[in-house]
Amino acid sequence: MSLFFSSLNSGSNGNCYYVGCATGAVLIDAGISCRETEKRMLSLGLSLKSVKAIFISHEHTDHIKGVATLSSKFNIPVYITNKTANYCVGLKANLCRHFEEGQTITAGQLNITPFTKFHDGCDPHSFVVSYSGLTVGIFTDIGKVCKNLIHYFKKCDAAFLETNYDEQMLETGSYPLVLKRRIRSGHGHLSNTQALELFLQHRSKKLSHLLLSHLSRENNHPEIVEKTFSPYAGSTKIIVASRDQASPVFSITGNGFAAVNQSAKQLQLF
Ligand SMILES: [Zn+2]
Ligand SMILES: [Zn+2]
Repeated sequence: MSLFFSSLNSGSNGNCYYVGCATGAVLIDAGISCRETEKRMLSLGLSLKSVKAIFISHEHTDHIKGVATLSSKFNIPVYITNKTANYCVGLKANLCRHFEEGQTITAGQLNITPFTKFHDGCDPHSFVVSYSGLTVGIFTDIGKVCKNLIHYFKKCDAAFLETNYDEQMLETGSYPLVLKRRIRSGHGHLSNTQALELFLQHRSKKLSHLLLSHLSRENNHPEIVEKTFSPYAGSTKIIVASRDQASPVFSITGNGFAAVNQSAKQLQLF
């Protein structure tokens, strides 16, 4: 009774997150090309044939770039809100499934619950994926910590959490003022400090993995993120998701045992 998860890519250049159990999986966002998604999943021993559905958080290119091709090539339904679907060019109507906030959707043995958040998309959502009493949250592209985020973060056994920027680096960096303002506007992205506060105040005792995600190339650095969180890690394994490659496949099981760095192949999945 294990839940497996991996970041296939994380950052403003593309986001795609895999969450699955022994009988099937879902992708949260499809922001890298279809070819790259296939390649990275294959290298992890994961098959696209196991993917029961793709869930789209919002319409920014780094979350939807590969979705139309991926969905059509592998005949995978795409769960997307009506407003967001308007921006998804090429998505086949017969593969579109609409969702609403708080409505839990079943894909195989997985339950996926979307919730609204603060971000400058037209209808932005984040998701938690649950299976057999285990919950993995995928929380990126969030302008500020809100009640919804706190509510779902508290439930997580593992979470992808945005640490987009270091406040000092953004302040002194080369981004134009208008972009700096957008990022920290409350409808942009979470800073390392904002994410750390959420982690310190609201993590569950059962949170075994925290994958820090969607790092800015210009305004952050994996080492800074690692150093910010490591002193407070306790029993939580801290992983910084890469902008350029897939993470290993991590797993959690119902009895609290956490296995790391095992590929699905080693675990004889699919
Ligand atoms: Zn993004
Ligand atoms: Zn976005």
